Amino acid sequence: MTLAVYPGTFDPVHYGHIDIAKRAATLFGELVVAVYDRPSKQILFSTDERVAMCREAFAGCPNLRVAAYRGLTVDFALQVEAQAIVRGLRALSDFEFEFHMALMNKKLAPTLEFVCLMTGLEYAYLSATTLKEVAFLGGDICSLAPSHVQEALRSRFAAADDIGEPVVPLSALRD
Ligand code: ADP
Repeated sequence: MTLAVYPGTFDPVHYGHIDIAKRAATLFGELVVAVYDRPSKQILFSTDERVAMCREAFAGCPNLRVAAYRGLTVDFALQVEAQAIVRGLRALSDFEFEFHMALMNKKLAPTLEFVCLMTGLEYAYLSATTLKEVAFLGGDICSLAPSHVQEALRSRFAAADDIGEPVVPLSALRD
């Protein structure tokens, strides 16, 4: 059975991620959505929160599981005996980054393959950053993320509003 890992920050998971994961799960025997524990970028949600939101988003997908990891993505992929790493591609800017990462990862782990799936057209503009910004500014996020993620964003930013200033540093809104 072929096993693939779909790694990311998922801060928080949104419909663009969900679309890629569900499509990848049709291509591989099993897909592990791997939530990176300590990204260099500032995050809004803890690892446990990000994992819990992913688990809820993918409940009912039989060949898909969610796990947190730290360290090198390729080490995690080899540890779970994956054959491939899946990534999503939105625009040309993603391509350059993903190409670079894939080449470095191939050097580190030559047995792994790197598979990029093109974004669904309706999600081409969607990133966790834009989702957080729209939520922070009180915009409508219904078409961007599942209801439990919308709720988590609303309550995180409402807590900020209660004390009159953001409890999250604005830099956490950026990738
Ligand atoms: P984000 O860019 O939303 O912060 P992550 O760092 O968690 O996302 O990225 C995980 C993977 O999902 C990356 O390969 C990224 O390119 C991909 N991805 C993120 N958003 C989308 C989208 N809207 N469509 C397709 N792929 C996406």
